[in-house]
Amino acid sequence: MFKILQKQTLAPIVDMMVIDAPYIARHAKAGNFVVLRLNERGERIPLTIADSDSEKGTITLLFQKIGKTTEALGRLKPGQSIRDIIGPLGHPSPLKSYGNCVLVGGGIGAATLYPILKALKGIDNTVTVIMGARTKELLLWEDKFRKHADDFVITTDDGSSGRKGFVTDALKDIINQKTVNLVIAVGPVKMMKAVSEVTRPYGIKTLVSLNPLMVEGTGMCGACRVSITGKTRFACIEGPEFDGHEVDFQELESRQGFYKEEEAEAYKLFLKKRVKDSRS
Ligand code: NAD
Repeated sequence: MFKILQKQTLAPIVDMMVIDAPYIARHAKAGNFVVLRLNERGERIPLTIADSDSEKGTITLLFQKIGKTTEALGRLKPGQSIRDIIGPLGHPSPLKSYGNCVLVGGGIGAATLYPILKALKGIDNTVTVIMGARTKELLLWEDKFRKHADDFVITTDDGSSGRKGFVTDALKDIINQKTVNLVIAVGPVKMMKAVSEVTRPYGIKTLVSLNPLMVEGTGMCGACRVSITGKTRFACIEGPEFDGHEVDFQELESRQGFYKEEEAEAYKLFLKKRVKDSRS
């Protein structure tokens, strides 16, 4: 059992939890993720570790309440526990001294760039962060990012904060102004694809953190398979980060929607049961 120590709502459907998980906190590296389960027969969901503190023995997870399990997770309170959390899983981000790095985060995906930012700064890189969201209320952890980044750019689709437009608009400007040695993008598939298309003509090394459907997270089930230069790879044990110029994004997007109807049905039944329970 993993005790929830803190919980905070960061944006309309985004919650953050600080969880007591000493073993995971001691071994977590930037780019790792965990798989959690709320009960013995529950769905297993992968979440990127957004922060960790090895001294306190805690990990921080952010999640969007968009389905049955994430909605149920969001109803847990500090003092309650999560049944299972396995991790740290996946390869850590391959971080070293690159020079000029640009981290591009879209929506909730942006927060998971936080450990990568801290790690890159710890090994002598200049790091620009571009954080994009549909609107101001959906921007996450601005202060934390500002504290570590050499440069911090905000974009919103509606212009309610920072520059109006997509993260790719800001990225194009930066690439035109200076040499960029590394780009890491985390966010919706369409955004990671668009970022990879911006950097491709310049030959800039571009890593994207893939979020395919995942079940057990240790390479046995194959649910998270992705095509990288035509070869099948498992995002859980061979990723989650891959070279953005080699990813078949179209296949990733279509596989992500595979269980959309079942997910919607499970969510509907969950909400119906909650209403019934609250009335009895
Ligand atoms: P969103 O749709 O609101 O988009 C966020 C931002 O991404 C936009 O403001 C824009 O700047 C950019 N963007 C979106 N589409 C674009 C396009 N076609 N071209 C250029 N830029 C574009 O995002 P959301 O609803 O918050 O979703 C966040 C996504 O991040 C989810 O899909 C989630 O699965 C993913 N995620 C991934 C990880 C990971 O580790 N890979 C972790 C957390 C979240």
